[in-house]
Amino acid sequence: MIDSHVHLENGPLTFDYVKEFVDSAIAHNIDELHILDHSHRFKEFEPIYVNHRKYKAQDEWFSRDFRNSIYEYLDLIKQCKKINFPIKVIYGLEVCYQRNEEQLIRDILNNYDLDFVIGSVHAIDYRNYDCSYSDEILWNVCDVDTIYKKYFAEELALIKSDIFDQIGHPDQIKIRGFHPSFDLHPFYEEFAKLAKEHDILVENNSGCHYRYNHPDIGLNKDFIEILKKYGCKLITASDAHYVKDVGSLIDKM
Ligand SMILES: [Zn+2]
Ligand SMILES: [Zn+2]
Repeated sequence: MIDSHVHLENGPLTFDYVKEFVDSAIAHNIDELHILDHSHRFKEFEPIYVNHRKYKAQDEWFSRDFRNSIYEYLDLIKQCKKINFPIKVIYGLEVCYQRNEEQLIRDILNNYDLDFVIGSVHAIDYRNYDCSYSDEILWNVCDVDTIYKKYFAEELALIKSDIFDQIGHPDQIKIRGFHPSFDLHPFYEEFAKLAKEHDILVENNSGCHYRYNHPDIGLNKDFIEILKKYGCKLITASDAHYVKDVGSLIDKM
């Protein structure tokens, strides 16, 4: 089993911490582990968040970030690659995609050599949809249909950019329990067609269930069927932010 998305976020960038993730993966029958962290941990990515920080509550949240240099992470990767772990381990990033920052993201990423890069839509017009303050700046002030339409438009642009190896949790917008008034199947079709064309890995991410209490364990079932119909490459992910969560629900997915 593969866990293609686990975060070092809540610990130090040290070999011992990476080893804890690898040991947890082995204990959970994972034989391939993809370790990463959010782009907003690293100060080199600060320029892509300038517009996010125009919202006060969100600025406070981001002000706790950018605490490391990407070079600390690259040094750690170099150190880890000298060790032969009993399972396959690769190292990358999860980057917050915003269409308007696409060139900037591309330029920054061009400087670094990583095993993989995941692109994820975490924000609508720079406003994160899954944080404690998201009601205040997004859900209470914007129409749900508009939020969904913008979310999916960003995902299609993400795929077309060809910057990323994988798209993170592509129906995560559902986690707050708001439903659009329109049918999502045409979007699923358009998404699947494009994902196949651009050969991007599509994540089936269990985080929506055990982190956000959504009834789905991963992607919407119809969405999965449509992705399969188009021959898209699905990949399992736990989105673990803690060692104990590595491999969560991968067997079920
Ligand atoms: Zn994410
Ligand atoms: Zn993540």
